[in-house]
Amino acid sequence: MDRQPQTCCAAPNAARRTSLKTALGLMAFGMAAELLPGLAQAAALTKAQRDAMTPDDVIAMMKRGNERFRAGKLQTHDYLAQKRASVNGQYPAAVILSCMDSRAPAEIILDAGIGDTFNARVAGNIVNDDLLGSLEYACAVAGSKVVLVMGHTSCGAIKGAIDGAKLGNLTGLLDKIKPAVDATKFDGERTSKNDAFVDAVAATNVRQAIDEIRRRSDVLAGLEKDGKIKIVGSMYHLVGGKVEFYA
Ligand SMILES: [Zn+2]
Repeated sequence: MDRQPQTCCAAPNAARRTSLKTALGLMAFGMAAELLPGLAQAAALTKAQRDAMTPDDVIAMMKRGNERFRAGKLQTHDYLAQKRASVNGQYPAAVILSCMDSRAPAEIILDAGIGDTFNARVAGNIVNDDLLGSLEYACAVAGSKVVLVMGHTSCGAIKGAIDGAKLGNLTGLLDKIKPAVDATKFDGERTSKNDAFVDAVAATNVRQAIDEIRRRSDVLAGLEKDGKIKIVGSMYHLVGGKVEFYA
């Protein structure tokens, strides 16, 4: 995400370790790493880098990535270098459950690279057993520090659930969103034509997903209780590009 470039092609691991140590040291003193010259090119996360971060550090890193995205100041991602650096292992800092919408690609809007985040994408960012298993793997086995549930504005799956749309297997998926439609308190027109209502349901849907993760996953609830991970919600605004974090 926001780490120092590899300065020596002969010893990339050493360069990354040194750079992260520097960056983390600066972060500890409240300095944003991206303010420093030479920290614009991202490398894949190492285990030491990821393990040194707290859940709050990871959330802050994602927020800074979205700020860069909105400012049009994305880091230079050398994907081939990131691929080479992560081929023998991955140490993602977070797992993101987000919608499959083509306009909401989590890695891009958070300015993350190869190896930085696990990404689970499904229409309407709903929770089911397989997704819970994926989130559990990310945190309990692979060591991710944050579960980020990300909804987005103008979500077609939310609109479909409001409309009671029916189509093959999609019907069952939309049924998982309907409790959020019913639970959304809203004064005004409760239809898919009303953007404000659609976005209010999307927010409820994110909060219900988080409740469901905690309720249905003893693994993740336990890790959160122990302070090893944080489970947080967010909303990506298609207009403006901001990821609004609920924590
Ligand atoms: Zn969507």
